Amino acid sequence: MQTKFFSSSSLQEAADLIHMGETVVFPTETVYGLGADAFNAQAVLKIFKAKNRPADNPLIAHISSLDMIDSLTCDFNPMAQSIAASFMPGPITLVLKKNGSVPDAVTAGLPTVGIRFPKNEVARTFISLCNTPIAAPSANISGTVSATTFEDVKRELSGRVGGIIEGENCEFGIESTVVDVTGEAPVILRPGSITLEMLREILPQTKLHPSLISETKVEKPASPGMKYIHYSPKAEVVLVYGEREKIVTYFEEQLQPSECLFLFQEELEQFSKNKMSLGSAADLNEMAHRIFRQLKQVDLLGYQRVYIPAVEETGIGLSVMNRLKKSSGGKAIHL
Ligand code: AMP
Ligand code: MG
Repeated sequence: MQTKFFSSSSLQEAADLIHMGETVVFPTETVYGLGADAFNAQAVLKIFKAKNRPADNPLIAHISSLDMIDSLTCDFNPMAQSIAASFMPGPITLVLKKNGSVPDAVTAGLPTVGIRFPKNEVARTFISLCNTPIAAPSANISGTVSATTFEDVKRELSGRVGGIIEGENCEFGIESTVVDVTGEAPVILRPGSITLEMLREILPQTKLHPSLISETKVEKPASPGMKYIHYSPKAEVVLVYGEREKIVTYFEEQLQPSECLFLFQEELEQFSKNKMSLGSAADLNEMAHRIFRQLKQVDLLGYQRVYIPAVEETGIGLSVMNRLKKSSGGKAIHL
């Protein structure tokens, strides 16, 4: 398939492709999304094909104004409204009861639909020109690391999608927080840049799904997509627990030439072997912003293994560690 490329000044042409039932990759503030008309089931199926995505993993319907929400759900309840008032547009997805017009292909047959109103200007203009909600998962081959830069998308999806819109590097760098608001209290199904702490400021009863609490073992995944292998580069990812200084000293001795260590900016000077920066330790949002891009760099540079020191699982740290635990498939060492 011949993929067309668009800039932020040719968004109408990208929207025309959507009207023709094609797939278009677009930038958002979280990660790049691979979109199609949410009301065109045939077009939505092309997303699954392009990504090699299992059919039981639902997509998120993206809107360009809150008015569009009623085309997807007939239950925009008070809890959902208060989250929307504080955090939309932004990096959050509301899971709500779907209405009859949403194709099963979008929701993987679930009675609910994930709805997101992105903040990114290019995304919003594109969706409003499409004049229909855009169903989209992350723009990457299933199981691999989500794309947060135009270069990454271009390299991985050229020839597999109808079009790609070139945008800036994604601001937040990890996928949206997914919150189920169909029950009595909001339940976070996937942590993201809108944290548990931020949601509790407006809705103190907000909970984490049990599967996100490390100590708990649950049979049922928080949301269908969470059961699959995820965020895996070709290189082996190993989490490292322990005091950071000890970690730096240990790998100064032990790191092999085919391996690499992720560090904070402040630690780089103390370490003489292969290393990549996750930004300043003072702001974990920077780590979230960089983590997927750096994991892709690990493969591009041909490293076979990357060691990543664990961070505390609070605030955005919980969201980053959620992705890294999946990337590592549970591989970890304790120093
Ligand atoms: P992606 O953006 O690629 O991570 O894919 C969208 C993700 O949103 C899915 O993997 C699910 O984790 C989540 N999601 C979408 N719709 C629903 C839904 N109706 N219920 C629960 N989770 C959902
Ligand atoms: Mg994804």
